[in-house]
Amino acid sequence: MENIGEQMSKTMGTSRWSQHFERLKETVKRDPDVISFVKEHQEELTPEIIEKSYAKLYEFVQEKEKFKRQDPTMIAPGYEPKLFMNFRFIDVSYVPTQTLLAKQEVQKVESRMQLENMPKGIRNARMDQFDLTEERAGALKAAMLFIKHYSQHPDKFQPGLYLQGSFGVGKTYLLGAIARELAELGFSTYLMHFPTFAVEMKASIKDDTTSAKINQVKQAPILMLDDIGADSMSSWIRDDVLGVILQYRMQEQLPTFFSSNFSMQQLEEEHLRITQRGEDEPLKARRIMERIRYLSKEVEMVGRNRRQENN
Ligand code: ADP
Ligand code: MG
Repeated sequence: MENIGEQMSKTMGTSRWSQHFERLKETVKRDPDVISFVKEHQEELTPEIIEKSYAKLYEFVQEKEKFKRQDPTMIAPGYEPKLFMNFRFIDVSYVPTQTLLAKQEVQKVESRMQLENMPKGIRNARMDQFDLTEERAGALKAAMLFIKHYSQHPDKFQPGLYLQGSFGVGKTYLLGAIARELAELGFSTYLMHFPTFAVEMKASIKDDTTSAKINQVKQAPILMLDDIGADSMSSWIRDDVLGVILQYRMQEQLPTFFSSNFSMQQLEEEHLRITQRGEDEPLKARRIMERIRYLSKEVEMVGRNRRQENN
């Protein structure tokens, strides 16, 4: 048998709790959104259903207030609580806001531009901000044509561009702008600084990640190798890294872009042909060049060096 003290504290506890519950119910009943929801659904709602739905209605009122204050403790930040009829009960759903959807869309686009060792500012490059000079019109036009054809027929092979021109003329900027435009159309690009990649590949031999890295790069839906020929290449990088990547992309018909301070001919004769050790390997150089020529179209960019103005 329970003693009197226990009985009393139980009853008091229960009544304190029910008082509290009544107060919460009052708060809920006064809420204008709850009032209009109940009115809107009066044909489906009975007093029992409303009684059983108080927990959800209270959650709604609480979360709505937090949402208005943009309180970080809300259940689902970025989502707005809404009431709905869940069969025979009132329930709360969390609907993404326009702001959240816009933010998610931006993140989705950003994630389609994979940059490796590229200057940060390249994310801000835009085709429509590419300031047009007569000498650069050809490159811009070729870029626009690529985007048009590729987005219309992504399964049909489109050669990329080999942007060639002197330092600071805007080659990297244009690659970034192309990647951005493609990302907005739903296509993923892998854009990397080739000389740094070559250094990283050498280092990857130690931890045995070379082939995994090559596989990742060679399979990129659209690949852009920036600044090819800027550093002298070892024959290993030329044949077993670059050669393997390009061979795969030819077989799989995957669009590939390049940028270089050198023309295709200069790249072949002055860079690919002579190895870091000073050996002359014309046949191997030609083999690589044939792949580059197959994969891309050479476009010359001429103009002033923009770096002094910006940096
Ligand atoms: P390159 O790769 O040919 O050496 P970059 O693309 O790095 O040249 O361009 C050099 C500088 O000029 C960078 O700071 C870049 O952001 C800027 N730049 C190039 N083209 C444009 C452009 N159309 N609008 C604004 N800035 C540009
Ligand atoms: Mg560059």
